[in-house]
Amino acid sequence: MLGVVDLGCRKPQMGCAMALVDRLYTLQRLDTLLNRFREQKARLRDLLNNREEIERYRRRLEEMRARVKDLHRQLLESDAQVQQLRKKLQDLEARLTKGQVQNPREALVLQQEITYLYRKIDQAEDLALQVLMEWERSKADLEAAEAEFQQMEAQRARLEAELQKEIEELEANMQELLERRRVLMGGLPPDIMAQYEQLQARKGGLAVALVEEGACSACGAVLSAARLQAARNVFSLTYCPQCGRILYAP
Ligand SMILES: [Zn+2]
Repeated sequence: MLGVVDLGCRKPQMGCAMALVDRLYTLQRLDTLLNRFREQKARLRDLLNNREEIERYRRRLEEMRARVKDLHRQLLESDAQVQQLRKKLQDLEARLTKGQVQNPREALVLQQEITYLYRKIDQAEDLALQVLMEWERSKADLEAAEAEFQQMEAQRARLEAELQKEIEELEANMQELLERRRVLMGGLPPDIMAQYEQLQARKGGLAVALVEEGACSACGAVLSAARLQAARNVFSLTYCPQCGRILYAP
């Protein structure tokens, strides 16, 4: 019969009675599945590698830690300032009460200085209090953020483990498909295989198109009765007149 290709079967257990076009269609289905798995794997890998959200949060935490540290430094400084002013006030008041100042004019100046110091101490204490409150607020915010981050990290670790598992499962499936592909390819003549791969490369990965309701399911071309008849002959190859793909009519 014209167009019959000897499949040169080397593995009878793999079903050598399979006609050429059946083999090609099976190969196409394997390849389509393999491509889908490859895309799926790439998507999972992207998800696995995308740590943007968690890294953004980590940077925010670092800023918050720096802020708390800075506020603590400001707090120590403002406390020291208050202590310093109080010490100065004590000294001046001691001079006044111990009667070290005899001159009334000098006493007046000292009194004015003391009044001024009281005001300064009030201001410094207000500032220290403000810094203290701000420091405490920032510390509480930081603690909450740290707790949230811990949860986020735990969640992320769970997600990564799941993704890793899915990728491994996909890889195992792909290995199995590749093995089946290798066996299937062993039963196809090299020139047919080359033709198939060329078609795949030109036709977006789809070299064999299923015939559905008398039309090519890949491009929609309605097939003539003669072509349909030819496509049903499983031992020869028939091509779609429009897209050029190999037709498979089950
Ligand atoms: Zn077509």
